[in-house]
Amino acid sequence: MPHVVIAGAGIVGLSCAWYAQRNGWTVTLVDKDFEGDRASHGNAGGIAISECIPLSLAGLGLKPLKWLLDPVGPLSIRPSHLLNLLPWYLGLRKVSRPENFIQISKALADLNAYSLNAFEEMLKDIGLENEIHHKGALTVYEKESTFKAESRDWEIKRSHGVKFREVNTTELIQLEPNLSNKFEMGVMIEDWAHINDPLFIVQTLRKVIQQRGGEFIKGTVTSIAIDRPNQAGVVVDDLRTIYADKAVIATGAWSKNLASSIGDNVLIESERGYNTTLPQSAKLLNREVIFAERMFVATPLSIGLRIGGAAEFAGLNAAPNFKRSDALLSLGRNFIQNLDETNPKKWMGNRPTTADSLPVIGPSGRHKHVLYAFGHGHLGLTQSASTAQLLFSHLNNDSCPINPSPYLISRFG
Ligand SMILES: Cc1cc2nc3c(=O)[nH]c(=O)nc-3n(C[C@H](O)[C@H](O)[C@H](O)COP(=O)(O)OP(=O)(O)OC[C@H]3O[C@@H](n4cnc5c(N)ncnc54)[C@H](O)[C@@H]3O)c2cc1C
Repeated sequence: MPHVVIAGAGIVGLSCAWYAQRNGWTVTLVDKDFEGDRASHGNAGGIAISECIPLSLAGLGLKPLKWLLDPVGPLSIRPSHLLNLLPWYLGLRKVSRPENFIQISKALADLNAYSLNAFEEMLKDIGLENEIHHKGALTVYEKESTFKAESRDWEIKRSHGVKFREVNTTELIQLEPNLSNKFEMGVMIEDWAHINDPLFIVQTLRKVIQQRGGEFIKGTVTSIAIDRPNQAGVVVDDLRTIYADKAVIATGAWSKNLASSIGDNVLIESERGYNTTLPQSAKLLNREVIFAERMFVATPLSIGLRIGGAAEFAGLNAAPNFKRSDALLSLGRNFIQNLDETNPKKWMGNRPTTADSLPVIGPSGRHKHVLYAFGHGHLGLTQSASTAQLLFSHLNNDSCPINPSPYLISRFG
């Protein structure tokens, strides 16, 4: 049996392990902290297949500056991190060029187009088919003019087959009776789904992979080994190397140093997001709601109503600033009625965000037996199982479900 060693057991690494096992591979997973509270454990739980608009500065004018000046606003950059962020920021600026913007949206849409099916296939196989809800998502607008200003993005989505429709205030109240009456309109995104609890899916995947013979090794991968022509390996705690037929690097926001240990360059940053989960308010909404102007979302998970958002660039090691979780909760208070705030749970996670909003999926430019699966930014849950399928089509020499080239690490030069 072929053997794959996978560094990182977040939702992406676990999905790769699950898919590899199904296709006859033996699997070794290495993680520095399997139980650690990473992005995959506490995200908003949205299967957001409509989201094909890359992060970009196009058309934002002075808005980012305004956000930066608000101490708990939707965007923040720690001054000590400014210089480190510069190469990523320069990469982000290139996204605004019309030709890049269109290509990236298409690549995101192509991957998203089969992400829901792939994800559901995985849920079904691990016995969690009832953990997903197909209720769409509602984007709500305090001002209709904001919706009009975003019309280019909505048209791009429509051109990629995303199904949505405008919703007036009467229907808004019918769909979500606990929303405040501060909205002039909404947009119903039909194909969006949400899950009950991201952590439960991660925990179940771990259990199933172990039951199917997967090996779990706790340790920090310190570099990648490429000293053998027909194998690749991961060096654990600088002490020992685990070789296999293939090595997959799925270490989320921590992947940059590992890739550069063998000479692969990537522009990736930890884009830290926050939330507060209210266990007693789970039933206040029927579906995920996206608050367009305030840039936060609320998802009715089975474990509570999760109110979250924010983009904080502070590097991988800075302590969390939970004032952001508080700020998100107070936004929720303004726009959702009847919140029960008993036992709130605050959380921060590191989104692995590339400068061009596309994940890195596929072989290293330096060694064909090293593969990458990281950099999914805001969409790692959504694209977890489809990433695994795309990655393993490289391994099995199967025809790829989509054109694989936009996701290769070689695009960073
Ligand atoms: C607030 C917030 C809301 C979000 N909402 C959504 C959503 O609604 N829908 C969606 O699709 N996505 C969402 N995301 C994004 C999604 O959570 C991430 O893209 C996804 O979890 C990334 O998964 P991952 O497996 O790549 O990384 P991670 O979950 O970060 O896992 C990486 C793993 O690698 C391990 N690791 C790292 N370095 C090493 C090393 N050197 N050696 C060994 N192990 C290592 C870590 O311990 C960790 O277990 C959200 C993210 C945030 C922060």
